[in-house]
Amino acid sequence: MTTVADIAELDRGDPLAGFRDAFVIPEGLIYLDGNSLGAASRAALAAVERAAREEWAGKLIASWNDAGWFTLPSRLGDRIGRLIGAAPGETVVSDTTSINVFKAVEAAVALRPGCNVIVAEASSFPTDLYMLEGVRSRHPELKIRLEGVDAPRLEDLLDGDVSAVLVNHVDYRSGALRDMAALTARIHAAGAIAVWDLCHSAGALEVDLNGAGADLAVGCSYKYLNGGPGAPAFVFAATRHLPHLRQPLTGWWAHARPFAFDLGFEPDPGIRRMQCGTQAILSMRALDGALSVWDEVDMVELRRKSVALTGLFIDLVEEGCAGHGLQLVTPRQADARGSQVSFLHEGGYAVMQELIARGVVGDFRRPNLMRFGFAPLYLSYRDVWDAAETLRQVLDEGAWRTRGAEAGALVT
Ligand SMILES: *Cc1c(COP(=O)(O)O)cnc(C)c1O
Repeated sequence: MTTVADIAELDRGDPLAGFRDAFVIPEGLIYLDGNSLGAASRAALAAVERAAREEWAGKLIASWNDAGWFTLPSRLGDRIGRLIGAAPGETVVSDTTSINVFKAVEAAVALRPGCNVIVAEASSFPTDLYMLEGVRSRHPELKIRLEGVDAPRLEDLLDGDVSAVLVNHVDYRSGALRDMAALTARIHAAGAIAVWDLCHSAGALEVDLNGAGADLAVGCSYKYLNGGPGAPAFVFAATRHLPHLRQPLTGWWAHARPFAFDLGFEPDPGIRRMQCGTQAILSMRALDGALSVWDEVDMVELRRKSVALTGLFIDLVEEGCAGHGLQLVTPRQADARGSQVSFLHEGGYAVMQELIARGVVGDFRRPNLMRFGFAPLYLSYRDVWDAAETLRQVLDEGAWRTRGAEAGALVT
């Protein structure tokens, strides 16, 4: 059995422990929701403040050139690129994940003329599926096949009619992690294009897009990457596809010469063709600050700690809360899960509300799933111990039973 002394030993030996001071974590809070909205780093706060006061207020329009605003999307893209296994020039920060899903899937479909099927997961984060409906509205001949509806396994839906496969690297509910290299190889064997959604893996684990031979990818920067609420998303395209890549949101920022103000559209030769229009620069600056922390992170160490934190939480909760009706839905096998742990419980919403009232913040997804995200840069082993202990107390005392059982808030 793990003891408090073991936990202290783990924290003493943690090579990433020093990163906690880079973040502002409210006193007394154990924040296990970095998979939904990452914590604020001091560097991100300072970068926004500086950009607002000095660049915007102080230098106004000159900052587009002098402060490098115009090139920020590609420069930030390359820094995220290091974390996801992309080469320089393959990633750009732009728009939202939803919009990038649309652009990336449209680009994939255009790369495979005559193939009229898109494959995705019924368990996908819903916005991905909603955006596929938008793609289909432009191409009436397209059909969508869903893993979990049309076949139990995505692999069984692949054939020569498939143009694109949109797949989540880590499942937002269960935390299950796909084998990117193996699945990409299967998708390619069917002649299709692999579009990976990295929302729950970028900044959570080592991602190796080029090692896996991935074609396109999207992801958001406000979860594990800590870019701030609504921070701009990113989109990746492998160099081999760039010259042929076409996406329909052909705004001026995707133009080869935005300031030539030409009559017709001509795409930028590189990844900038995946942009659309003017970006939210203050949000880009927050991400810029957040990435200055990531620039220092060894992703191998990050993954090692993530696996240790999630494994410890599973063990402690199963030891301490046995008999309380919790059901683990996250894979027990370390290499099959991302950086979150989810449990089903009949009173999931009320239990989570009680936990939050006691300073342990996770979140809840209908109908009865409790999610706990583990961001290795600002969580300690002691946090995991305390969170598991608080969950045990909540369940032992049964205090959650007096709370409303239904999710009432607009955002859960
Ligand atoms: C969080 C998340 C999104 C969010 O999309 P937005 O456009 O930023 O709202 C999309 N896909 C997945 C898999 C997510 O986890």
